[in-house]
Amino acid sequence: MKCPFCGSPENRVVNSRVTTDETSIRRRRECEGCKERFTTFEHVEETPLIVVKRDGTRQTLNREKMINGLLHSCEKRPVTFEQLQALVEEVEKDLQGGMEREVSSMRIGQMVLTKLRSLDEVAYVRFASVYRQFRDVSEFSEEVRNLLDQTEPGSGADRTEPGSAADRAADSADSAETDTGGKASPESTR
Ligand SMILES: [Zn+2]
Repeated sequence: MKCPFCGSPENRVVNSRVTTDETSIRRRRECEGCKERFTTFEHVEETPLIVVKRDGTRQTLNREKMINGLLHSCEKRPVTFEQLQALVEEVEKDLQGGMEREVSSMRIGQMVLTKLRSLDEVAYVRFASVYRQFRDVSEFSEEVRNLLDQTEPGSGADRTEPGSAADRAADSADSAETDTGGKASPESTR
């Protein structure tokens, strides 16, 4: 590190401390040449994650966008904004920990789905319908049926026939895709 005053590469650290937000270390240095003091900061380099969309276009991972998408799926569901924030942060952390710098939007959607499922199953189905882009209705119904089969008895999903329960979930997924404003989801009529 060259001295900004005289250009000498020789200096010693006279003081070093972690910044208040704990994201970097501040070092006060003294030049061995001219004795002037200057400050350097050390922080973790954040390599932006690149999302490869279905059409092949790339963009940096956008946390806000992810949360917005999730908010849509969680409309009228007992999921807090903080829970969604935590979910997105977890996904981001998992991705940052991996070696890949480019991740497909499908893979991210999959990771979000896995976490969303433990938060709220209706939100999960809504989100799945957008992210997986099911080929047809039967494929989607199949997914919903699998989901309902795994649902514990007594949670409410077992009170109706599998077919109608799937339809009901499909309806709510539809309303998540098309912006219907304040239309009540079928779940709220229970
Ligand atoms: Zn100097």
